[in-house]
Formats: sequence, C-alpha cells, structure tokens
Amino acid sequence: MPRNTLKPLVVGNWKMNGAVMARDNVRSMVSMLASMTPECDIMICPPATLIAPLCDVLARTGIAVGGQDCHTKSSGAHTGDVSAPLLRAAGAVAVILGHSERRLGHGEDNAMIRAKVAAAHNAGLTAILCLGETLHEYEAGRTEDVVAHQLAASLPDGADCANTVIAYEPVWAIGGGRIPEPRAIGAVHQSLRAALSNRFSARQAERMRILYGGSVTAKNAGEILSLPQVNGVLVGSASLRAGDFVDIIKASRKLKGIRAKGGLQPGAIRAKASS
Ligand code: PEP
Repeated sequence: MPRNTLKPLVVGNWKMNGAVMARDNVRSMVSMLASMTPECDIMICPPATLIAPLCDVLARTGIAVGGQDCHTKSSGAHTGDVSAPLLRAAGAVAVILGHSERRLGHGEDNAMIRAKVAAAHNAGLTAILCLGETLHEYEAGRTEDVVAHQLAASLPDGADCANTVIAYEPVWAIGGGRIPEPRAIGAVHQSLRAALSNRFSARQAERMRILYGGSVTAKNAGEILSLPQVNGVLVGSASLRAGDFVDIIKASRKLKGIRAKGGLQPGAIRAKASS
C-alpha cells in the first residue's frame, strides 16, 4: 500500500487530569517545541474547565484545543453536561466522542454517539470518533467486525474528511501498556478506510485521518506513525508529561515524504480556533 500522505495529527487526551500542572506542563511543552518545526498537527484535549485557559496559553502556537465529550443537545436542562456550542465558545475546535471510557463507563451506545457526532458537526467542531474492540472481542478474532459495526452505527451521514477524524483504540490497549502488532493495527486501519470508501467516496476515505490510540509512548510512537495506514496518534497518559508528548511529536518528524494533503490542515485548525 502506498504511504498515506495526510499530515499526521497527534492528540493528547488528558482525561480527568491536569488541574494543577496544566499551565506549567504546557508552557514547558511549548518552549520545547519552539526550537523545532513539527511535521504534524498537534491538539490537546483537557477537561472542559481547562479549555479556555489552555487556549490562552496556546494562542498563536498553532496547537489546537479540543473537548473530551459533548451532549447531544445544544442547550437545555442537562445538569453537569457540556454542549458542543459551549465547547466551541470556550475555544475548542474538536471533541473526542465515543471513547471507550464513555461507552463502557457511561453506557453510551452507538446511537447516542452518532447524535453527539452530529451535534459536534452542527457546532462547527471536528469530531474525533473513537472505535475499538474489548479484549474478549479481540481474543475471539472479531476486531474488524466490531469496529466496522461501530463505524457504521456511530458515524452520521454528514461526516466528511474536514469534520471527522477516526481513532482506532483497542479497549484492552488503553492504559495497559500492551499494543497490537503493528501489522494488525495497519490491517484494522485499512479495513476502516475501505468501509469509509464504500459508504462515502474513495476520495473522502483517502483524506479522512485514522489515528491509532492505546498505550502510545515516546518509545513506540515512531513505529506506529511509520505505518502507511496510520495518520496520527491519540495519546492518553504519555500526553500528561511534556517531555514524552514532545518526543511523540518528534517521532512524526522522522517520517520522510509526508506532506500535508487534504484532511484537517493546520491552517484549518488555526482558522477555526481564531474565528
Ligand atoms: C486514551 O484513553 O485515549 C488513551 C490512548 O490512553 P493511553 O494512551 O493512556 O493508553
């Protein structure tokens, strides 16, 4: 398969962390990045309360900020929830949806995730749609069927390469230090792209970024990012350490021949961030 030429996207998912260290950590990350020209787009998804302050710290760096979840509705009597327009107003340009910690920890099904993705699109946010099989499904050899079903059922018709990023995150790989064989990651990404091509068009499918997530570290990022089917990584715990996150970003620099083409371009992220 020819190398995919989309510019890689490296996303940090801070989950429910970051209150105390956020600014210092981000400042040291920014100063480490100042001396280099990243060959990838970079995004940080902090808890919702940190979106606005993080946008201030990251202003004019080109590093985008995203949310970690949104409600299906744009406003209303939903105590404790955050809507896509509220994320947008706080400065987010994207939102992670369908993460397994939401699917399993909050009982979110594909229909709800599909409605959330549509809500994100309506608010002008890029949806980062997470898919992935459990250990049981992996061991039963059902990975490609499971993610194909999740993709079909949780991606609304209005999705395209500009408003959607797919993240393949095996549930058993998240936070556990174990990752699939690189060949298996490539095969799942290829099957997802084929499904996107069947549903939308070959052109859209080629341009839609498909990230890998689950125990990505500074050590394994280079190998994962060098897979021709992989367009970036979604990073959990390693994104909480500035040095590790910067090393993952640096890993994308070693990929020769990758040039921005289609997909969510840095200009698009910045343009959204400043509008
Ligand atoms: C995640 O939860 O999105 C994730 C990728 O976590 P980790 O990198 O810690 O496995």
